[in-house]
Amino acid sequence: MSSRAATRGVPAPVDSVVERLIVIGSGPAGLTAAIYAARANLAPLVVAGYQYGGQLMYTTEVENFPGFPEGILGPELMEHFRAQAERFGARIENADVTRVDFSRRPFRVWVGDAEHRADTVIVATGASARWLGVPGEERLRGRGVSTCATCDGAFFREKEIVVVGGGDSAMEEALFLTRFAKHVTLMHRRDSFRASRIMAERALAHPKIDVAWNSAIAEVRGDEHVTSFLVRDILTGDLREMAADAVFVAIGHDPNTAIVRDYLELDAAGYIVSPDGVHTNVAGIFVAGDVYDIRYKQAITAAGMGCRASLEAERYLEELEARRRADGLVLAT
Ligand code: NAP
Repeated sequence: MSSRAATRGVPAPVDSVVERLIVIGSGPAGLTAAIYAARANLAPLVVAGYQYGGQLMYTTEVENFPGFPEGILGPELMEHFRAQAERFGARIENADVTRVDFSRRPFRVWVGDAEHRADTVIVATGASARWLGVPGEERLRGRGVSTCATCDGAFFREKEIVVVGGGDSAMEEALFLTRFAKHVTLMHRRDSFRASRIMAERALAHPKIDVAWNSAIAEVRGDEHVTSFLVRDILTGDLREMAADAVFVAIGHDPNTAIVRDYLELDAAGYIVSPDGVHTNVAGIFVAGDVYDIRYKQAITAAGMGCRASLEAERYLEELEARRRADGLVLAT
């Protein structure tokens, strides 16, 4: 239900539809916010992104999302989220937000040239995979350089694969790739993993996985596709050539805050600053999920944040609409 607002004596411009809530992002945070907001009859508009669904779309088995004792595939879980939001009236647009203006009210959110207006916005834009930034990496992206084992792993059957990183993502990618690869080298820049113990132990125990400790890729080599890497020993500085067919980079993520950076306070790493993990420095703009959460970054914590953001947006709208009624504003829905 969108509202058309007009101030006393000043007719609203024709077609100035003001959404009550726009959710930017469609990972667990954005879609949970949409489920709650839709059930509260806010008819949220979800600008989901062309690559909707967030990072779980690039995951295989999710074993720790409550309610699925046998586990569930990441993309399947996100389909459930989406269907549940749509069931209650969320409108989901598979497009990217191109810019916003949070300095004016109602807030503006553009998708290409189309301008949307809203009384509240939940920013749940998540985070994107990091790249190494070494020579050859960009040129050979999609030709042996990848950040997504689920997407590209099957292209490397019986091949020699390197996974870079020491966190849970690297363990997960390496374990998944053993289904296809002849052999997987987990390459980490230190001498101990950051990953959770259960994931690290699984990787270390796998017969197809070896670890190259204190090592970093200095260059990705190959003409048409990856054929080798220049590998630096972090302790000695020595360089060696290592033959391999692919590298999967799993070294963490950067928050997707480019479109909001002119309006919302960000920390040094680019994450949205919030005193409580819900409110931002702009009243009426709320945050949820990995675009704020540098610490937990779990689907379940993102979903919880989406719920909180939606409940706060609902409360904010109630107060806003009560103030408008008190001011004699006409609200025709
Ligand atoms: P992460 O925990 O931040 O780990 C990133 C890893 O990449 C670290 O080992 C880091 O090394 C390394 N690294 C960072 N920049 C690098 C660079 N430029 N060159 C080489 N190595 C670099 O990120 P993540 O593994 O993506 O995990 C993020 C969050 O998601 C975590 O909370 C994790 O628990 C969660 N997660 C959970 C699961 C699961 O439960 N199934 C799966 C995936 C992710 P240092 O250790 O030296 O800093």
